[in-house]
Amino acid sequence: MHDIDLLVRQDRHWVHPVTALMQHEAVGPSIWKSAQGIHLTDIHGKRVQDAFSGLWCVNAGYGQPTIVQAAREQLEQLPYATGYFHFASEPAIELAARLAALAPEGLNRVVFGQGGSDAVDTAIRLVRYYFNAIGKPDKKQFIGLQRGYHGTSTTGSGLTALPLFHRYFDVPTPQQHHIASPYTYRHPDGPDESKVLLSTVKALEDKVAEIGADNVAAFICEPIQGSGGVIVPPQGFLKAMRETCDRLGILLIVDEVITGFGRTGPMFACEAEGVSPDMLTLAKGLTSGYAPMGATLISEHIYETIAQAGSDGTALGHGQTYAGHPVSAAIANATLDLYLEGGLLENGYRVGAYFQQRLKQLESMAGVGEVRGRGMLAAVELVHDKQSKAKAPAALQMGQQVLKHAFAEGLVFRAFSDDILGFAPSLNYTEADIDVLIDILKYSIEKAVSSSL
Ligand code: PLP
Repeated sequence: MHDIDLLVRQDRHWVHPVTALMQHEAVGPSIWKSAQGIHLTDIHGKRVQDAFSGLWCVNAGYGQPTIVQAAREQLEQLPYATGYFHFASEPAIELAARLAALAPEGLNRVVFGQGGSDAVDTAIRLVRYYFNAIGKPDKKQFIGLQRGYHGTSTTGSGLTALPLFHRYFDVPTPQQHHIASPYTYRHPDGPDESKVLLSTVKALEDKVAEIGADNVAAFICEPIQGSGGVIVPPQGFLKAMRETCDRLGILLIVDEVITGFGRTGPMFACEAEGVSPDMLTLAKGLTSGYAPMGATLISEHIYETIAQAGSDGTALGHGQTYAGHPVSAAIANATLDLYLEGGLLENGYRVGAYFQQRLKQLESMAGVGEVRGRGMLAAVELVHDKQSKAKAPAALQMGQQVLKHAFAEGLVFRAFSDDILGFAPSLNYTEADIDVLIDILKYSIEKAVSSSL
């Protein structure tokens, strides 16, 4: 048992990710101690239902004994093995083969990494390598969506399109561009989905024309924009992006770091529209957050080009010490077993449909502008005025207020800074767990809205 005051004092040495640092020094850390199933317990013994799967990653829920056992066995047997210089380990070989089999058609080759940011960075590096290798060195420009999130690597953070990730970081670079988000609720062509879709296709065409198709390497997008506020694009969005990229001669990178591994229902959101991107980035649910791991899946064609470029014996100059880490790989294999044979994917489908249906009912509440989502991924967008969709004054911190009331009642989720509430329950939720979530959320919204009047 740690001395809590001592821990709080020691925490001043940890520069926390994506945290207002001065504010953190003032409020101190909220320290989790343990977790089981869908519940987290903090250092004071307070137990709360986790409706955000940690950071939308613990898709299998906490305390899964088969994952823990796989990790323990791998730690005992072989805690580390490099993948460099033709060396390998059993779990990483097995995992790559399983991912290739599960992924959309054609994505046959797996580059392992540590998480989502470096999975995106790997994609960027390999796109550059590919176009240089085929003698199209001018194809260097990347296009993403406004409100997109693709991590915080030096380059990838410029494809992210949320202001705080750019400020003082000198991104986006001149090679990075963004088009309007297909944010139906607030898009000038909304709420008509087909108009928003047409407009998004046109925006991509226009941007490519502006930069010159010979200069554009790739378009990157999330199937549902997570950190941008769980923005669900119109039906057919991925398919339309695939067709547009093909027509314009640019590559399509789909970032499924959040949407992968059953988060929206199927194993990958690409499946829902029968889309195979040229590259697919994965992390989070890959190991259900039990250990760090990410993966960039690339098409056979891109792999062959890259492999051929080194046919003189030059090694591909890309990789990290922990790429294909055997413990992470063993954990990922055990997690895949749970999704598939363990019935988690199936449960996520069923309970996800129930979750969406129950959450949608909150749309009629005062203070709720839109409820949107798919499967076990959703957002509630709070507004001050339903008609004009105007937000409450920022000083009221409506999202934070709802979260504060919910936390007191034993529920945690994510309150984005712009009064959007994010939800990502784990796939082991039951309908009864969803009922608890909805009851507490409804009460918390009512309380926050009534005290703001
Ligand atoms: N891409 C997407 C779509 C994400 O949501 C995230 C993280 O939330 C990342 C990339 C970055 O992943 P990581 O935080 O593991 O570096």
